Amino acid sequence: MSILNNFLDFSAKDAIEKAIQKAEQTTSGEIRVHLDKKGGDDPFEEAKKIFERLGMTRTEERNGVLIYLCFSRKQIAILGDKGINEKVSSTYWDDIYHSMAMDFKQEKYQEGICNAVLEIGNKLSTYFPLRDKNPDELSNEITEA
Ligand code: CA
Repeated sequence: MSILNNFLDFSAKDAIEKAIQKAEQTTSGEIRVHLDKKGGDDPFEEAKKIFERLGMTRTEERNGVLIYLCFSRKQIAILGDKGINEKVSSTYWDDIYHSMAMDFKQEKYQEGICNAVLEIGNKLSTYFPLRDKNPDELSNEITEA
């Protein structure tokens, strides 16, 4: 088995990227998953840096969502760009966070991430339905640093 890190192998990576692709088929929104090795004290601040670094603010409708994970620190942060944050309730990201954390506690890492991706895609499709063109504005590939 080839290992991406201690929690995900490459088949999990593949499954997650496919989930992103699937989620984005119903919305103009964009989802990315980032795995941080070192992380920092405040996962939300780290996620913001990654969001900027990955150019995630450059979507036309400002509807990118980042799932930030730092397994070594057991951190999860979910960050939406302002377009989506203007639409969803402030507790929405907390709900996603909690269901992921529950899955992670049961060591269901791949499942937890895929479920979160699909759920976010579902939400994005409500507010940002498909347009005539649906360019893949942000790569579906998991990033690591
Ligand atoms: Ca994408």
